[in-house]
Amino acid sequence: MLDTVITKPTVKPAARIIDPFGRTINYLRVSVTDRCDFRCVYCMSEDMTFLPKQDLLTLEELDRLCSAFIDKGVKRLRITGGEPLVRRDIMTLFKSLSRHLNTGSLEELTLTTNGSQLAKYAKELRNYGIKRINVSLDTLNAEKFRTLTRWGDLKKVLEGIEAAQNAGIKVKINAVALKDVNEDEFIPMIKWAHGHGMDITFIEVMPLGEIESARIDQYMPVSAVRSQIEQSMTLREIDYKTGGPARYVESEQTGGRIGFITPMTHNFCESCNRVRITCTGTLFMCLGQEDAADLRTPLRISHNNELLNQAIDAAILRKPKGHDFVIDRTINQPAVARHMSQTGG
Ligand code: SAM
Ligand code: SF4
Repeated sequence: MLDTVITKPTVKPAARIIDPFGRTINYLRVSVTDRCDFRCVYCMSEDMTFLPKQDLLTLEELDRLCSAFIDKGVKRLRITGGEPLVRRDIMTLFKSLSRHLNTGSLEELTLTTNGSQLAKYAKELRNYGIKRINVSLDTLNAEKFRTLTRWGDLKKVLEGIEAAQNAGIKVKINAVALKDVNEDEFIPMIKWAHGHGMDITFIEVMPLGEIESARIDQYMPVSAVRSQIEQSMTLREIDYKTGGPARYVESEQTGGRIGFITPMTHNFCESCNRVRITCTGTLFMCLGQEDAADLRTPLRISHNNELLNQAIDAAILRKPKGHDFVIDRTINQPAVARHMSQTGG
């Protein structure tokens, strides 16, 4: 008589990337260009030198790289820059990545944008499965906006936001809190955002990259932003999380949500679930550290993903416990030499 061997069906374990501190890495931010149609004063110098085109990953390479991370368990993917929507043919990347939403292996595909090109692309983005986006906007004053961005047009951004909302995309506003620049606008901006059904998050300026003005002049701790807001509004702590580093409160007056991101004064590293890739295929395991891994070489020297996967695994093992940003009055140097537009915000 033959023994009956009952074999259990083999279920492939869900892929997961886990770093040495036990954090599951399921969030990837990818910068698709270092270029931008604005020159925000805290982000770029006026005469930025941009990368030569051959250094950039092609859209096909970006797709392959993102897909490798998705195969490894990344569930949320944010496209950023520079300004992602100024990269030529960028919609083909959104289109190809949307297949991972259709299969369910990716839970969310999103983007951070300055909004200048949104009116043009909002509908298409929605068609490719983008349900919510972050739009960076630091002022509602057209003149101030032009000064802050060096040549941006506020009207276009507002039209872009409207187009996104009309297309059914949820918009969140990100505002960098800048001392003596937009501190008088926190309340009007909150009322405007909430009046249009949008959350708004305030961010501290971070010491990334050489810029012309001294960063210490712009720095305003989010604790000061909050106290200022609390002079006119009652804020209630709420348990709302988006997977990002923002902590949210609710305004009793508007019923809307206000987020605070405090990279300088509060360490959110213990719950960090993300890594970042630059437009040249460099993987940064931490926004505030210099250590990085080159993924472009393994991507370009072979057509299968074996070397690429090895490089990703080796890099994740080096993800640090946290960062150590300091804006120091005595050392007039950025803590990290690269610009935010390089790593992607
Ligand atoms: N161009 C897009 C935008 O502005 O939304 C995406 C890239 S931008 C680098 C992403 C975010 O980084 C923006 O919200 C911007 O305000 C923020 N950012 C840039 N430089 C920064 C800095 N030094 N400190 C804090 N936030 C910064
Ligand atoms: Fe461009 Fe965004 Fe940097 Fe402003 S913050 S210069 S919009 S990349």
